[in-house]
Amino acid sequence: MNNFNYRKVTEVSDALSNVSKNPDSYFIAGGTNLIDLWKYNLLHPSNLLDINSIDTLNTISKDKDGRLHLGALVTNSDTAYHDLVENNYPLLSKAILAGASAQIRNSATNGGNLLQRTRCYYFYDAAVPCNKRNPGSGCPAKDGLNRMHAILGTSEQCIAVFPSDMSIALAALEARIHVTSTTGDRIIEFADFHRLPGNTPELDNNLKSGELITGLSLPPEGFSKNYSYLKLRDRSSYAFALVSVATGMDLEDGNIKKIRIALGGVSHKPWRVPEAENFLIDKEPNESNFATAADMILNGAVGFGKNDFKIELSKRAIIRNCMMALNPECQRPGAQPSL
Ligand code: SF4
Repeated sequence: MNNFNYRKVTEVSDALSNVSKNPDSYFIAGGTNLIDLWKYNLLHPSNLLDINSIDTLNTISKDKDGRLHLGALVTNSDTAYHDLVENNYPLLSKAILAGASAQIRNSATNGGNLLQRTRCYYFYDAAVPCNKRNPGSGCPAKDGLNRMHAILGTSEQCIAVFPSDMSIALAALEARIHVTSTTGDRIIEFADFHRLPGNTPELDNNLKSGELITGLSLPPEGFSKNYSYLKLRDRSSYAFALVSVATGMDLEDGNIKKIRIALGGVSHKPWRVPEAENFLIDKEPNESNFATAADMILNGAVGFGKNDFKIELSKRAIIRNCMMALNPECQRPGAQPSL
């Protein structure tokens, strides 16, 4: 363990001025990924800024336009079980509760969830090359153990996936991310926050140095009638997704008026294909139409050997999850989906 300075801050302005004076500082909130990275010897913070006592970032409230604001420091559990989230954005509650374990959700924060790093085995093993950890060193996952890895949006440099469940629902809900720095505030549309690996796999997202996430906001309507989150994984709890799907839809006169489908476990960022969502507008919500949309979403998918199965699995998961969204009651524990 290296020596480090620890400082607790209670105001956003204090956090920002500290980080601007010491650019190698790390904010710590729940610490559920940062401590992992530290223990694996992948991070060596010299300045740790504990932001847990900034009360203004620990609230959930509606603004005058009806958007729901989720503070960056609200825990994943408190978010999932909040009345306004459970009733108006049940897709988000369901996705959060599919992630990690109860203990981790009680500690992990909304801001931290967006910033968690890939769980690629090679990334966590400092003894092997990894372009994300050490740019230019290589990507052993491409010809190695890649069962958990990406099939969409990959690059020569990296085939890692982004592991969050919460973020897949946030992508479907078209959330916004609110950030601040000493130069002012800015809002980032969710689709523009996470990055594909391209030639810079070391960058997971478009947050700039010195910026702090203050919260998330959700549109006034959150698919509260027709939604579903399906997570397929090797065991039923405390496992990352092989494939996950978040679907929210609005129906009118029996047809689809609006639909959002986001995929997790398949790319370096939550994966959406607006053309497939547009194809479904004014269509009947049936297996045939969802299958066509699934083909569009998986267009261009490429496996790397051990993860080839994800292509077909993703298509089936999309169809199943869209059908489940027609009857959210089937998602209750023990209920059988009526497919
Ligand atoms: Fe590193 Fe990405 Fe390759 Fe994993 S997939 S070894 S994170 S470069």
